[in-house]
Amino acid sequence: MTEDGEALKKKKAETLEMQNFTITQEHRKAHNGHPSAVIWLYGLPGSGKSTIANALEKRLFEMGNHTYCVDGDNTRLGLNKDLGFSAVDRLENVRRVAEVAKLMADAGMIVLISLITPYEEHRKLVQEILQNERFLEVYVECDLATCEQRDPKGLYKKARLGEIANFTGISDPFEEPAEESFRINTSQFDVNECVIKIAGELGMRFWR
Ligand code: ADP
Repeated sequence: MTEDGEALKKKKAETLEMQNFTITQEHRKAHNGHPSAVIWLYGLPGSGKSTIANALEKRLFEMGNHTYCVDGDNTRLGLNKDLGFSAVDRLENVRRVAEVAKLMADAGMIVLISLITPYEEHRKLVQEILQNERFLEVYVECDLATCEQRDPKGLYKKARLGEIANFTGISDPFEEPAEESFRINTSQFDVNECVIKIAGELGMRFWR
């Protein structure tokens, strides 16, 4: 951080204080009839993050929950349209989406995020930001060859032709999470089976 940045940070720390409001997350939980949660789906492009988020949201919504999907591509078209795909911009992209998820969880929602989140360090930042929320990370696992064959947006093809730089899986790395990380494998299980597995995990962790 520059000297200016450090000075600004110090000034902010001296002048800002968290404002508390009468209606809290607990009130919203009672009002909604369910707790909030953040489900963070990460994995290679084409692994099935948006497809699973969509199907899982539908299931949770139809059960009467207050839900919302935050999609990496959609946020890049709006909130994050000033950001590119360098490591620094990817970190800021992840940080903003995590802060949005935190706000939405505070507002009482079950939030489903689909974001590649390829670096372990960035996933650590997400864990830090969401440490006080009901937070489930889901590795949407799928081998590169299958993702590339699916190529739902034709982006692998463009990346192979060199038309897209910093493309995860081709010209930018995807760091595999630790073996014990919770995951669904979309090349082995169909959408419905993956949704059931995540719903089961949510029930076990947060809805008991
Ligand atoms: P991502 O959001 O990870 O970039 P998408 O969800 O946009 O990926 O695309 C995944 C593609 O793979 C879709 O065309 C989807 O129909 C297909 N697909 C096949 N099997 C599965 C599965 N088990 N889970 C999710 N998607 C699957």
